[in-house]
Amino acid sequence: MALTSPPTDVARAWNLLEALSDPEIPVVTLRELGILRDVREGPQGLEVVITPTYSGCPAMGQIEDDVKALLQAHGLQGSVVTQLAPAWTTDWMTEAAKDKLRAYGIAPPHACASTPSGAANVVQFASRSAKPAVVNCPQCGSANTTETSHFGSTACKALYRCLACMEPFDYFKPY
Ligand SMILES: [Zn+2]
Repeated sequence: MALTSPPTDVARAWNLLEALSDPEIPVVTLRELGILRDVREGPQGLEVVITPTYSGCPAMGQIEDDVKALLQAHGLQGSVVTQLAPAWTTDWMTEAAKDKLRAYGIAPPHACASTPSGAANVVQFASRSAKPAVVNCPQCGSANTTETSHFGSTACKALYRCLACMEPFDYFKPY
């Protein structure tokens, strides 16, 4: 056997998937958002582990299709495993991703206290209605903003309006 082996399927899949952007927010990758969790060799081939930003996020079907299509286009077979525990937290989102969201006109989520590990698999829909104290306008930075709709362009976002520059913007809800 040769000492240097070609890249494994897992390594190839990682390379491809790291560049895969979020279907709703094309400026950030799934990896940067913390949605892409793992790529591993499973009994049936490659397994791509993703964790939705919240349970029931409508974008997850699209993400699953994108992942499969990308792997298939490069001759790799893979399945997508949706992992709900531990639950996605905004702590998994990189600082670079938060900067990109801001530049894209979406207020990034506030860092929230991480859930105690024991309760991580409990999906609390009630807690999602909790509003952050201040959401700064991504355009002008003003803290004088108001929520105009709890569900923005997607269920993951709330619609806000800045009262300083009057611009509407999306707020990426934490959790
Ligand atoms: Zn503003």
